[in-house]
This record gives sequence, structure tokens and C-alpha cells, in this order.
Amino acid sequence: MTELELVRWIRSQPGVAGIGDDCAILPGTRAGEELILKADQFIEDIHFRRTVYSAGQAGAAALARSLSDLAASGATPRWCLLSLALPGGLDGSWTKGFFRGLLNLARAHRLKLVGGDLARAGRIYADVVVAGVAPRGKALRRRGASADDGIFVSGVLGSAAVALRRSRAWIPSPRLALGRALRNRATSCMDLSDGLSIDLHRLCLESGVSAVVDRPLPVASGATLDDALHGGEDYELLFTAASAPPSHRGLSITRIGTIVRGRAGEVTFFGHKLLPLGYDHFR
Ligand SMILES: [Mg+2]
Repeated sequence: MTELELVRWIRSQPGVAGIGDDCAILPGTRAGEELILKADQFIEDIHFRRTVYSAGQAGAAALARSLSDLAASGATPRWCLLSLALPGGLDGSWTKGFFRGLLNLARAHRLKLVGGDLARAGRIYADVVVAGVAPRGKALRRRGASADDGIFVSGVLGSAAVALRRSRAWIPSPRLALGRALRNRATSCMDLSDGLSIDLHRLCLESGVSAVVDRPLPVASGATLDDALHGGEDYELLFTAASAPPSHRGLSITRIGTIVRGRAGEVTFFGHKLLPLGYDHFR
């Protein structure tokens, strides 16, 4: 069973509502506001290695991944909860370093750690829940792309693949300012967590459209085209819109193609069908 198949099954079960976007979008407590929630796991030897990441880098990376999903929803982050499981022999200074890294990034984006849980486990396991807000009806979703929309990505692609190959820590920058700016512009949006090929396929599935990628990709320095197409963890924003400026607050924005009518989820890359080869946890 692939991750996509498992998610499809979960969505078909009674008692499940709204799964399929980067975040859950719920009625807010204040009028005119929606509450945007996201949970994300950061697991030792799956998402990071202790030999590569300092404790502080691991803490920052754990939060950054969740914040990226709030960015993709156009939300302003407010709170986070951290559930952390730690191996018995772990040095207390590692744990404090992890919290410092996470809290430094939280302060930079003005959100507060408001709770969580601590437990023992065989390896380090962090579950970060973030909550943010967006004006009612303005949160960005994966569905909404329609024929003739341009397809855009922020920044460059393949940076995470290069860091992984060089055994360097990779702390993504959540594109929160861009996400908020896109609330009144983008017809659909998601973050690139598993690779352009599979994430664009997912966005097109949700929107019921096809995509034609026929313009050069913004490939990161040292990255290959395969890294840019299929490498995960870049956490740039992928969005569709009638138009977009070439940059936002110094962050480049590149048009890579166009949404077209066709089989839902189908992506062509310079005339060839692009298989969704990005990362799938269950493949
Ligand atoms: Mg996401």
C-alpha cells in the first residue's frame, strides 16, 4: 500500500472530515477567523541523524517542517505543541539544545510553545503540532487550480538533496510571508515536502486538472535535474495563479508551467509524462 493509497482509504472512512490539504482548516474562535492546524513527525534515522544534526539544528528543523505547512495554507502561526520521546541514555544537554533550537525559530515567527508531552522511546521522536489563523475563507488549499493558471515555485529546488548527499544538516525556511501574500492571489497552494513530481501530481489530483511543465526549473547550486524533480524536503511553495511577481521580499518566484484540462493528476514535463517519483513513506 502506498502513502497515497493509505490516505485515500482513511478519507473514505466514517468519522473523517477534510483530510487532503496541507493543514486542517476549522472554524476559529473569533469571528472572521479560521483556525489552521498541522501535525508533523520528525524521527531519528528517518528524518535526521544525530551524527549530522546538532541538537539545536534538529529542534529548528522539527518546527520548520510544520511551519511550512502553515505557510502553504497562508496562515499566521500562533501556537505549537511538542510531544517528544527520547532514548534513556541521551544527554540532558542534547534535550535542552533541541528545545533551544525549536524555541529560537518559534520566537522568530512569533509563536508560543503551549504544551505537549514527554516520553521514553528507543530513538528520538518529535511530533510537532502547530496552530495558526487565517481570515475566514482565505486559507489556501490544494484544490482550486484551473485551466490556464500558471504554475509557480518559490526559491530553488534540490537544496535538501544536495545537503543529504554531503551529509549536512538541512533546516528549511518556512515561506510564511509568501504564503500570507498569496492569500489573495493563488488559486491553489502546497509546500514541496516530498518532491515536485509527486507534490504537483497531488495538487493536480485535488484540483481535478493536469499540469504541463515546459519551462526551466530553478535548480539549486550543486543539484541535478533529478534532485529538483524528485528530491523531497525543499519546503518551497508550489502554487497556481493567473500571474505572480518575479520575487517576494528577496525570495525568487519562478513560473514552471501551466495548468491544463485533462486527466486529474497527470503531469507532463517537456512533452513526456512525469511519473510521481518523489518520496512516499510506504512505497
Ligand atoms: Mg505539506
